[in-house]
Amino acid sequence: MKKGSETELNGRSAWNLIDRDAAETLATEYMSVISDAKTEREFVQSAVVVAQAAGYKPADALSAAALPSGGKLIFVNRGKNAVVVRLGRKPMSDGVNIVAAHVDAPRIDIKQNPLFESTGLGLFQTHYYGGIKKYQWVTIPLALHGVIYDKNGSKLELHIGETPSDPVFNISDILPHLGQAQAEKKLGEAIPGEALDVIVGHVPMDADGDKTPVRTSVLRTLAKQFSIDERAFAASELEFVPAMKPREVGFDRGLMLAYGHDDRICAYTALRALLDQKQVPERTEIVFLADKEEIGSDGDTGMQSEFLELVLEKLLEDSVAATTCRKVFWKSVALSADVDAGLDPNYLDLFEAANAATVGNGIVVTKFTGSRGKSSANDASAETLHKVLTILDGAHVPWQVAEMGKVDIGGGGTVAKFLSKRGIETLDAGPALLSMHAPGELASKADLYACYLAYKAFLEKARAS
Ligand code: MN
Ligand code: MN
Repeated sequence: MKKGSETELNGRSAWNLIDRDAAETLATEYMSVISDAKTEREFVQSAVVVAQAAGYKPADALSAAALPSGGKLIFVNRGKNAVVVRLGRKPMSDGVNIVAAHVDAPRIDIKQNPLFESTGLGLFQTHYYGGIKKYQWVTIPLALHGVIYDKNGSKLELHIGETPSDPVFNISDILPHLGQAQAEKKLGEAIPGEALDVIVGHVPMDADGDKTPVRTSVLRTLAKQFSIDERAFAASELEFVPAMKPREVGFDRGLMLAYGHDDRICAYTALRALLDQKQVPERTEIVFLADKEEIGSDGDTGMQSEFLELVLEKLLEDSVAATTCRKVFWKSVALSADVDAGLDPNYLDLFEAANAATVGNGIVVTKFTGSRGKSSANDASAETLHKVLTILDGAHVPWQVAEMGKVDIGGGGTVAKFLSKRGIETLDAGPALLSMHAPGELASKADLYACYLAYKAFLEKARAS
């Protein structure tokens, strides 16, 4: 395994290379943001607040009006995807520097006709979102976040289960005494997707002849508290997320246990890196906050949608540069800012140690993702790697190189290939996590800070080839 010598690639702890006080300050801010922002919509809302505090102005890519002055802009796409832009001195025809991260995270979504009653309990039918290990999501306290329209057509934003006086929600699991057959199943099959029904009520209506008095009671409560009827669920986006606040881990508090580090740790550090730029940059700098990465980057708010094109076209309209979106892309550079798997001390055999990331050893630079022969990978070029690593060294950013796990044992994708498809020179870079996609993921405060430094240096210094 790693010896941790000063000269060995991948072997140095980032803790010895960073400003620990600055890392601590950033960690406190970050944990406070993700404590409240647990959905893509909530993260985009908090990004708008943070950006506006830094002088960024909301802009509309579809409006015929000129862009707000000052060159600090934030474009929001349907509340779930945002593009934050700092205009540079050079024309856009020189290309732009992009850091793209995603703001959606694995969770349990409710179905559109969710409510039913069984065994004296009111329950919601659900369909999980993203790659979860289902057994991790049962028996833990869940909060309900999301959007639903009330009887009058007003949009309600629900946020239930986050304060100590709120109720939480819960998925039951069978007791070990009766779980023998379950225990003999494969882990991935032990809890079927249809067994992720969430308990939402228990106290029946006091009415004779009602065969589903708990269901009736839940509906009455919803009508009374929120003016919601059953039809409202058909037009809702409601998400069960862990009702857990971020916590520091270990006697020395160096790790953060939280829901949604994937990928809000990158989204927040990228955003902060852009907002903290003091001077007008040479090249235009963009932070792209994508939705839908966990289900393939599809949809009109995902990286595969053309919101980036729409924003660029608007910026070009307002500039003197005679160029096209495609020409801008071909001179642009991007980091696909997403998390990687850290070496897990309990599962070392799944990693090839020399090319695995260690939590706390700095930002992980990943040439390719994908699986089984690099299938579906962006596979960055040597030139791009050289360029980015030179920038990181120049800014004294701790980094390591890695791929996710041993060859042929699995894999995963990021938004990288959807950036590079556009002709943007792209590289994956983000922190290593433990327990990725679990209700509580672990990240290092040192890596959080390394990512911030890396994204800041990249936005300032990257140039097209
Ligand atoms: Mn991710
Ligand atoms: Mn993920």
